[in-house]
Amino acid sequence: MFSYRHAFHAGNHADVLKHLALIATMRHLLRKPTPVLLVDTHAGAGLYRLDSDFAQTAGEAADGIVRLWEAAAAKPAADPGAAEDALADYLQMIAAFNPDGQLRYYPGSPFILQRLMRSEGGDRLKLFELHPTDSRALSRNIAQLKPGRSVSVLRQDGFEGLRASLPPPPAGTGPRRALVLIDPSYEIKNDYSRVADAIADSLKRYATGTYLVWYPIIPRPEAHELPRRLKTLSHQAHRPWLHATLSIGAASTPATAAVQAGEPRRPGLRASGLWVINPPHTLKPALQAALPQVLAALGRGSGKGYTLESGG
Ligand code: SAM
Repeated sequence: MFSYRHAFHAGNHADVLKHLALIATMRHLLRKPTPVLLVDTHAGAGLYRLDSDFAQTAGEAADGIVRLWEAAAAKPAADPGAAEDALADYLQMIAAFNPDGQLRYYPGSPFILQRLMRSEGGDRLKLFELHPTDSRALSRNIAQLKPGRSVSVLRQDGFEGLRASLPPPPAGTGPRRALVLIDPSYEIKNDYSRVADAIADSLKRYATGTYLVWYPIIPRPEAHELPRRLKTLSHQAHRPWLHATLSIGAASTPATAAVQAGEPRRPGLRASGLWVINPPHTLKPALQAALPQVLAALGRGSGKGYTLESGG
């Protein structure tokens, strides 16, 4: 049924944008003691080896985390006291999974969220993954962290799982907050409309949740339409929003060179976007500082750039 495997794409520029924003959003939510329900509707396998056959075949991390990691190594270390430095925070997260300084592992959203959450403080993490192989890998990987009952791995449709998860159940005597990451592979065309429907439904169930939706920027009408629909939904629900996009541009060595060299892979995704509903007020300044540095490391030719807009 599914051909998409995130192992081919782990650590690419899209993961950099998504995970940088995810960590910056989490940091803000964790400032308050109120417990948070974390929902990852499309979780993937959780942890990836960058030297695996999958990652090596696609080589996408080379245009993502690998460049960023090398650029950071060439610079003096960031001030560890600079809590608002989202890029340094992201790189420290990746470094935590590569303690010997060699970049071998890339943490997916489940591992990032699990590392940041406060299991003792009532935070809960629900991970939905439908692919049988990735779901098994996710269960195995997460089990190694011995996370206890605060983390559940569910081999279910993430859109349906989200509907059943909202509003978040109360924690103790008080309400719980919620952070939702919606990160489908979009290999099925109706993923675009399912995302918009899931946001419409979620805002009715729980208008104050923080929702992060990742999408690819590709020449396909549904992909162009999705941010427009998300903007309309955000306005209709009177919720603030933030929209970030990152394009690394076209490679200076065109795909034809790779094809001539007998390498059949397609040129790959060049740009993606992230729509955030109810973003923390700290997210825009954090991305404003981080994205120019990300672009300086990853931008590679014509069309490179980033955008950052907010409203509501
Ligand atoms: N969120 C992950 C991260 O940041 O590390 C990456 C997720 S990857 C882009 C999308 C995943 O969704 C794939 O592993 C795919 O198998 C899974 N998937 C596809 N359709 C799904 C559905 N309806 N419900 C749950 N998972 C699904």
